[in-house]
Order: sequence, then structure tokens, then C-alpha cells
Amino acid sequence: MTNLPSLDPTDWQTFRDEAHRALDQAINHMQGRQDDPVWQPVPSEIRTSLKADLPRQGQAIDRLTDQMADRFLPYGVGNTHARFFGWVHGAGTPQGILPDIMAAAMNANLGGRDHVANLVEKQVIDWMRQAFDFPDTSGGLVVSGTSVATLIAIKSAREKHGGLDLRRTGLGRATKQLVGYASDQAHSCIARTFDILGLGQDALRMVPTDGDYRMDAGALKTMIAQDLTAGHQPFCLVGTAGAVNVGAIDPLETLAEIAREHNMWFHVDGAFGATAVLSDAQKPLLAGLSQADSIAFDFHKWLHVNYDAGFILMRDVEDQWRAFTERPDYLEGAERGLAAGNPWFCEYGPELSRGFRALKIWFHLMHFGTDRLGGLIAQNCDQAKALAGMVERSDRLELLAPVALNITCFRYNPGDLDGPDLDRLNGEIVVALQERGLAAPSTTKLKGHLAIRVNITNHRTTLPDLEFLVDHIEKLGQEITASNLV
Ligand SMILES: *Cc1c(COP(=O)(O)O)cnc(C)c1O
Repeated sequence: MTNLPSLDPTDWQTFRDEAHRALDQAINHMQGRQDDPVWQPVPSEIRTSLKADLPRQGQAIDRLTDQMADRFLPYGVGNTHARFFGWVHGAGTPQGILPDIMAAAMNANLGGRDHVANLVEKQVIDWMRQAFDFPDTSGGLVVSGTSVATLIAIKSAREKHGGLDLRRTGLGRATKQLVGYASDQAHSCIARTFDILGLGQDALRMVPTDGDYRMDAGALKTMIAQDLTAGHQPFCLVGTAGAVNVGAIDPLETLAEIAREHNMWFHVDGAFGATAVLSDAQKPLLAGLSQADSIAFDFHKWLHVNYDAGFILMRDVEDQWRAFTERPDYLEGAERGLAAGNPWFCEYGPELSRGFRALKIWFHLMHFGTDRLGGLIAQNCDQAKALAGMVERSDRLELLAPVALNITCFRYNPGDLDGPDLDRLNGEIVVALQERGLAAPSTTKLKGHLAIRVNITNHRTTLPDLEFLVDHIEKLGQEITASNLV
């Protein structure tokens, strides 16, 4: 029987040339990125071309790399630009191309077994232990993002306080309803986790926030008391370190204390905010974070590791193991040989096969060092305050929330429009900024008002970028009002 040719290149030298060319195309894109529009819509012709039939026959590499370079790379979300300020996106780095190439070359599966990739991930875990002042009992796992990290944390909490039997019986047999708490500013991934785990979104109580958008601890205590009276079991308290709307940080020390008092798990959603521990200036704002039972955060946001890379850090990694361990015969470990390396990472989360995300994190931290990354975080916080200053000095701009960290929320207000018209005008300004490729803030609603929301998790942003933004918001505000669009 003759073998079909494998998928490897038939001519390695040709492949090498093609690969070098592709690398150049990728680097060219990053190098020229700041001269491009921040964002541009995908041309309809490209949209159409992406509805082709399943390819039965393959095509040459050069053609495909050209397609990627010319037709895909320019039409990204825009977060590699200095004036991308939308939602919370990290800015990525050109250097991050390199570990992705190496990881692809290795094609490792970090579900388990005994190989060097797992040791790299263990190194990353140990670094996070150090970064967050967590004890020796702690551990964690590299995941795709904070959403999955949250799922791992709350499942561990559920089993710790609801009993390991839940893994077999499900919630149907539970005698008391398990309830948890998060502020009304908390990210939707927490309610989603309650849904996925069968706890139900209603079991997550939304605690009101104060004038600074921080959880109201008094209201929390009242809600816990009501649940106890009703015969429910409060099992989990979620604090947010850097909420999406305005970057608010809950009073973490107080929450840690309340959680201890009521024997609840204390989880912190620190998707972007928690990584501010790397900045000496911001670290004091996060007091109490090191008392958490678990912290979920992302490397791909404020630390700028290229997407995607998140992390779950657990105070007692045994809780995580107990909630997820599952070793059928075909995954049996061994003392020696390739099946050694116990325990396996697949025992700490929902995924069995796991790619080598840890490599890009390892490379990023090794190359840039945490001092430099922390310095850029501090710079973004200073920039958010500077932007608030520009807003306050302008006759036509109005600050809508205090700046807690790196997010500035404001609106254009010419003074003679009512609520709905003001909302429409500010929505139009943001869309115009995006469509003209000038800048990309996003919007949110604060106390019923539409706000232009400028989130600065961007190592490329400079003060002139923010002056440019303010300038164009004022110009667009005038232009749109004059054209009677609102
Ligand atoms: C982005 C974000 C999340 C979700 O994180 P992903 O990495 O997108 O899954 C959760 N909480 C907060 C506060 C966030 O900013």
C-alpha cells in the first residue's frame, strides 16, 4: 500500500521562504498600524468572499498569506491602535507574534502528561502567586479569559459550600438554595456562571452601589440577613476590582471580612483591575485583594498579552481540584514515563485538551518585566485623570462619573438639549468617531444618561491622542447639532 503524502511541506526551502514572507507581512502590519484608521468596516466584497463553499481542494500558501495580510489584517477591531478606547481591550504587541509561532511549532497539549510546556505553565502559576501575595497552598490555571476563570471559581465555591455530592446529584437534591452576591456594576459573566452551574441567575443577588459605583456593604448585610431568614444558604460573595462601566473597585477589605463572618467564598472579578497590583501607585487601591479565595483576571487586557489569555488564581488549589478532578481509565496517570507529571491540568478546569497559552504569557513577562507593565498601568490611570481634567476645562463637556482607575465617562452637552436628544447626540458622536477611523471609544448608560466611555488599557496612548479625541468630540458635537441630525 502506498502512503498518501503527509501534510508537511514537500519543499522545506520553499516553505521557509513563504513563512519568512508571511512574518514580514505580519510585522509590516504592526509597524504601519498607527497610520491606519483606528477602525474601518469590512468592505462588502470581503464579507461576500467569506461565504464561500467548503474547499475540497487546497490552495497555495502565498495566495493565502496575501489574502490574510491584505484582506483580513486591516479590518480588525482596532485595539492595536493608540486611539482605541472601547470596552476593555488590551493593545497587544508585535513581539507577541513570536511565542505564538513557537507554540504552533510545538503543538503541545497541556491537558496533562510529562513535558516541558506544563512546567512553563507551572512557572506562570507560581509568578501569579507571587504577584498577588498568595500562600503556598494556592495555585491556578491559564484559561481563555475571565469568563471561564469565573466559571472555575464559582464551581469550586459551589462544591466547597454546597458539598461535593453536588457533582453527582446536581442541585435537585439540595436542601437549601445556594445564593450569592455581586454589585449591580458586576460583569454579566457572573450571572452567566450562575446560569451555567444550574444555580440560576436569580440566585445571584445584585447589591446596590454607592455614589462611586462601589458595592454598598450595608445593603449587602441586609440582603444576607434576609436570605438567612428565608432559609437560604449564602455561599459566595463576588467583589469587583475594576468594574466595566467606570472602573470602580469594591471595598474589598470590608467584603473579605463579611465573607469570613458568614462562611462564604470570596471571589474577586479583577479582569483588568486586578493586574494593577503591578503598579506601586495603584496597588494600595486593591487592599483586600490578597484575602480573596479566588481571583479571575486577564493577561489579554491591561497586560497586553495577545488574545486570548486569562487566569484563575485560587487560594487553596485543592478546592479547585476537588471540583473538577475526573480521571477515567484512559487518562490514568503513572509514576514514570509520559503519563507522569501528576496531577494533570485537566483536573483543574472544564477543558481536557489545552493549548500552550502559557508560552506567550511566559515570554511577555520575561521580555517586558512586570515593572515596565506596571508603569504603563500607572500611566493609563494618570491619562484617565488628565482626560477628566480636559473635560472639566471644556464648556461643552461634562464629566459623568469620578475616575476610579483608567476609565473616563463624560458627554458632550451644548446646554440646550433635553435627555433623549443628548443621548442621541452623544451616541452619534461615538459612531462618527468610529466610522471616520479617528478614535474608538464606546458608550454606556450611567444613571440613565448615555456616556461616552473612554477606557484606557493601551500602552500606545499618549496625551496628544487624548487631546485629539477631545478636540474631535467637540467638533463633531457642533457639526452634528448644526446638521440637525438630533
Ligand atoms: C472583560 C471582563 C470580563 C470578561 O472577561 P473575558 O476575558 O472577556 O472573558 C469580566 N469582568 C470584567 C470586569 C471584565 O472587564
